[in-house]
Amino acid sequence: MTDFLGIICPKCLSPLKVEGNTLKCSNGHCYDISSQGYVNLLPPHKGGSIPGDNKEMVRARRTFLNNGYYKPLADELARMTAELCPSFVADIGCGEGYYTSRIKQEAKATVKGFDISKFALAYAAKAYKDIDFCVANLHSLPMADNTVDVITCCFCAHDENEFARVLKDGGYFILVTPGAKHLFSLKSVVYDDPYENPADEALIPNFELTDTKELCFDFTVNGDDIWNLFSMTPYFWKSPKEGAQRLRQLASLTTTADFVIRIYRKK
Ligand SMILES: [Zn+2]
Repeated sequence: MTDFLGIICPKCLSPLKVEGNTLKCSNGHCYDISSQGYVNLLPPHKGGSIPGDNKEMVRARRTFLNNGYYKPLADELARMTAELCPSFVADIGCGEGYYTSRIKQEAKATVKGFDISKFALAYAAKAYKDIDFCVANLHSLPMADNTVDVITCCFCAHDENEFARVLKDGGYFILVTPGAKHLFSLKSVVYDDPYENPADEALIPNFELTDTKELCFDFTVNGDDIWNLFSMTPYFWKSPKEGAQRLRQLASLTTTADFVIRIYRKK
């Protein structure tokens, strides 16, 4: 069962408590728990598109991840998190909860997932009943200062000031980013002149880099999963039509997964 302990009211910053199908603070602010079990803590949505990944993107990523292609990453991330012996882990940009649930399994800690996409969390909350999921903005996390032991952030933007605020002193932040060779063969199909990913800046203000691990392996994707994988990448939105068409025609594709996992300690 989920209890949403440690989650605070975005309006007045006081603790939220479960009351029936809602979360309430002592000042009477109230947030509905959805039928799937997640809670939306973003301000009411006014016009424009709903923030975060849409249903189609969520479905593609969920199918791809559930078929186990990135299991070595989930296992390694969970192992590295468990090694830090946390009691409270926040998975930021958790999507459909694939990595979140693996971390929960391994670390045996309280794990909560945060994402801006309510479509992703609708799936996550339905699939993983023992984890609290909150729709929230990563720049304004609904948690009090100095309360989190470990933050995990997998292929997601990060906000070092906000992460430093919610982390306990000496707490850790684990960041997963694509390495130089990540999906190079896929890019070679889509682009005439593919390039390796540029190295990102490893140093982050307010944090000390304590460990770096590169996880690199080849894997083969078949049929629809090629397209599911493609739609998870930024290339999906900016590649030439002919390139995407070439990818559509493939029955199978062998490519490289290249992940860089970095552990940072709050100074
Ligand atoms: Zn409140």
